[in-house]
Amino acid sequence: VGHLTVPGPGCADDRALLQRYGTDEQCRTFLPPILDCSHRYCQGYSEPEAGSDLAGLRTTAVRDGDARIVNGAKIWTTLAYDVTHMFLLARTGDTGPKQAQISFFLLDLDSAGVLVRRIRDMAAEEELCEVFLDNVRIPAGNLSGGVNDGWTVAKSVLSFERIHVGSPAMPESGLALLERVARAHGVLDDPAVADRIAALTARRRSPRGGLHRVRARAGERRAVGPGRVAAQAAGHRDVPADCRPVIEVAGPAGGAAGAVHIAGDDIRVLGAYYRARPSTIYGGSSEVQRNIIAKQVLKLSTELRNG
Ligand SMILES: Cc1cc2nc3c(=O)[nH]c(=O)nc-3n(C[C@H](O)[C@H](O)[C@H](O)COP(=O)(O)OP(=O)(O)OC[C@H]3O[C@@H](n4cnc5c(N)ncnc54)[C@H](O)[C@@H]3O)c2cc1C
Repeated sequence: VGHLTVPGPGCADDRALLQRYGTDEQCRTFLPPILDCSHRYCQGYSEPEAGSDLAGLRTTAVRDGDARIVNGAKIWTTLAYDVTHMFLLARTGDTGPKQAQISFFLLDLDSAGVLVRRIRDMAAEEELCEVFLDNVRIPAGNLSGGVNDGWTVAKSVLSFERIHVGSPAMPESGLALLERVARAHGVLDDPAVADRIAALTARRRSPRGGLHRVRARAGERRAVGPGRVAAQAAGHRDVPADCRPVIEVAGPAGGAAGAVHIAGDDIRVLGAYYRARPSTIYGGSSEVQRNIIAKQVLKLSTELRNG
C-alpha cells in the first residue's frame, strides 16, 4: 500500500503500490480515501539511531489476538501533525536477518496511544515531527505485504520517493531564484554571474535526462533497479552548493532568514538553499545512495566499498 501527502504525481505511485502489495480488500478500503485526499499519510520509517541503518529500527508490533500492539518512537516524520494516517515499519520477528523481521502497517493517527510532537528546523519551520507510540492497537487488516515481509514494501516506497528526490524541479527553482536576485541587483549581465548561470543551466540537463529515462522504463512496465534510482537521487548532492551563488549575489541580504525586499521585489533568498540542503538526506543520505550504486551498479566488493 502506498502513501500520499499532497495531490500530485504521488497519486500514481500510491495506486501502483496498492496494486502491487495490497489485498483486494485493502484496495477497496484504503485506495478511495487516498485518492479523494480524505486520508493523507506520513512515512514512519526513521527512528533515533535507525535512519541510514533503517533495518536496526526498534519499534515493535507484538501480536495480540488478531491485532498488533505497537510500542516505539519515530523521528523526522514529515507533516505527521497535518495528516490522518502513517505507514510505518515495526519489528515483528526476532530471528534471521534484521530485514526479515520487519512488517509494514497502516496506522490511523487518531488511535489511542499516539503522540505527535513537532520539531523546529534551521529555517524555523516545524514540518518535521517525533511520533511516540505507546501500546497502540493496529487491526490485522492494516498489515500490508505479509508478516516479516515489510522490507520489500518499504524499499518499493523508497524507490518512488528517490525518483522524486532526483527530480530537476529543485535545481531549476534554485536557478530561477538566482536569475531573479541577479536581475533585482542589476547584475544579470555581469560576466561572472552569467558564467555561473550558464554552468548551472548546463548541469540541470543531467537530472532531467535521468528522470526521463526512469519514467520511460516505468511507463513501459520495465523494472527500474535500485541502483538506477539511487543514481538519480545521488545526482542531487551538488544542489545545495549550486544554491550558494544566490546567497553570494544577494550580498548582505544573503544572510536573512525570511523574505527580503530587493529592488521592489520580496525574495526569500535562503529559500532554495533551505529546500536543497535536506534533499541530500531525506529518502536516504547521498552517502547511502552512493553505497547502493557501488553495490548494485558497480558491483564493487565489500573491501573495495569500505576501502
Ligand atoms: C527534511 C527531512 C525530512 C524527512 N522526512 C522523513 C519522513 O517523513 N519519514 C521518515 O521516516 N524519515 C524522514 N527523514 C529522515 C531521513 O530518512 C533520515 O534523516 C536519513 O535516512 C538519515 O538518517 P539519520 O538522520 O539517522 O542520519 P545517520 O544515519 O545517523 O547518518 C549520519 C551521517 O552518517 C552518514 N552515514 C550513515 N551510514 C553510512 C554508511 N553506511 N556509509 C556512509 N555514510 C554513512 C550519513 O550519510 C550521514 O551523513 C527526513 C529527513 C529530513 C532531513
